[in-house]
Amino acid sequence: MNEFQGHCHCGNIHFTFSSMNNENDFTPRTCSCSFCRHHGGSYVSDPEGHIDLNFKDKTQVNFYQFGQKTADFIICKNCGVITMAISNIKDKNYAVINIRAMLDYTFTGTATQTNFDGETPQQRLERRAQNWIGHVVIKD
Ligand SMILES: [Zn+2]
Repeated sequence: MNEFQGHCHCGNIHFTFSSMNNENDFTPRTCSCSFCRHHGGSYVSDPEGHIDLNFKDKTQVNFYQFGQKTADFIICKNCGVITMAISNIKDKNYAVINIRAMLDYTFTGTATQTNFDGETPQQRLERRAQNWIGHVVIKD
């Protein structure tokens, strides 16, 4: 099992992403929605992977939603870094992590661009349940 560490700039949000895949097996996905374009968000996931997400001070974490409001973007209120997005689907959390929040610029493979603007909310949730990281543990 490989472990990849990530955190926001000030360290309030910290996470460990565990996967059987090696770093080079991941192709980052640069999302072209207006929010991610503004922030330069680029994401990786592994349906068999696992995330441990920790907050030092949860009151300093923004669970930002927009558009269809089917995901929370986990953003530090103190330093402004987007660490990941979490979507709750049928009482289970799924996540993608933002490679910009990874330690030492992990996942530097050439990114592909994604555009999911045409999806219905139902299509969106089905895609996430298949592709996003399927084991998310939040400790706060
Ligand atoms: Zn921070």
